Amino acid sequence: MVNIKWEELGFNYIKTPFRYISHWKNGQWDEGQLTEDNMITINEGSTSLHYGQECFEGLKAYRRKDGKINLFRPTENAKRLNRSAQRLQMPAVPEEMFIDAVKQVVAANEEYVPPYGTGATLYLRPYLIGVGPNIGVSPAPEYLFSVFCMPVGPYFKGGLTPSNFIVSEYDRAAPFGTGAAKVGGNYAASLLPGQHAHDRNFSDCIYLDPATHTKIEEVGSANFFGITHSNQFITPKSPSILPSITKYSLLYLAHERFGMEAIEGDVCLDELDKFAEAGACGTAAVISPIAGIQNGDDFHVFYSETETGPVTRKLYEELVGIQFGDVEAPKGWVVEVETKVKS
Ligand SMILES: *Cc1c(COP(=O)(O)O)cnc(C)c1O
Repeated sequence: MVNIKWEELGFNYIKTPFRYISHWKNGQWDEGQLTEDNMITINEGSTSLHYGQECFEGLKAYRRKDGKINLFRPTENAKRLNRSAQRLQMPAVPEEMFIDAVKQVVAANEEYVPPYGTGATLYLRPYLIGVGPNIGVSPAPEYLFSVFCMPVGPYFKGGLTPSNFIVSEYDRAAPFGTGAAKVGGNYAASLLPGQHAHDRNFSDCIYLDPATHTKIEEVGSANFFGITHSNQFITPKSPSILPSITKYSLLYLAHERFGMEAIEGDVCLDELDKFAEAGACGTAAVISPIAGIQNGDDFHVFYSETETGPVTRKLYEELVGIQFGDVEAPKGWVVEVETKVKS
């Protein structure tokens, strides 16, 4: 067994033994292979370095009580990678190739999938980059697709404990820009506002709709949801929000399993009083309750500054229960990884 204190893991890079890599050239992907080398060498003219021709994904492998390993809706990640790729003029990664790469990486690094009950998971990072000789602003002649992984704990320190967020004066995306694509460029632009939020002791910043700055769009690198006093689940709808798979899963669960009205609509900053609870959701964030939101001089508290609301907790338990195989999953949501090692 590897020597890792699973309970103490944060969200940090750890080198695991194997990663998958495939090279696209002359219109096709090569065989793809696992490698132990965690360094890549690319041409200095690569578009990923100069023009941000890069997109990525994030998903997790979950150790079940019976020792087997689950992936959560990986086909949705494959589809989203390809939508991002299309937006940046990159070749698609066939869905089967994506899933196969993810499964190979999990199986090869099986020992690094944290034990059930520790709260930790194996985070997988697929990415696609433009490489090869280039200098003009045009799509790269070649591409690399890789998947690497590492065991992680909660993304926001504290897990299911509420934390505070601050409304940013910066935008992360433009109305017809790349907000809905999971691309590195969006993140480069978020580093400064993120730093400002951290400097003032907030978990991250809240981004507003870029056109009017009156509605909530994103919570750092996670989606926003709120529970109204009349038990509606509401999450913002906008073409510049990254379509979170976790968010769509919660919309479904809120409606199908808890009989709530589940709505994608506007979340206006001047109507926060209608929410009894609020949270951030995403693969890394899972569900992180929002204690309060600072907006200029105004500080709005939702459920409580220290306690997690009952609906947020119920949704969290359902989602995490499904991911770890303790709660029955809607059809097709959970994909098992075959491993060589007997668990
Ligand atoms: C990846 C991401 C999310 C969360 O999406 P999931 O599919 O739930 O992991 C939310 N917002 C941004 C900006 C993201 O990049």
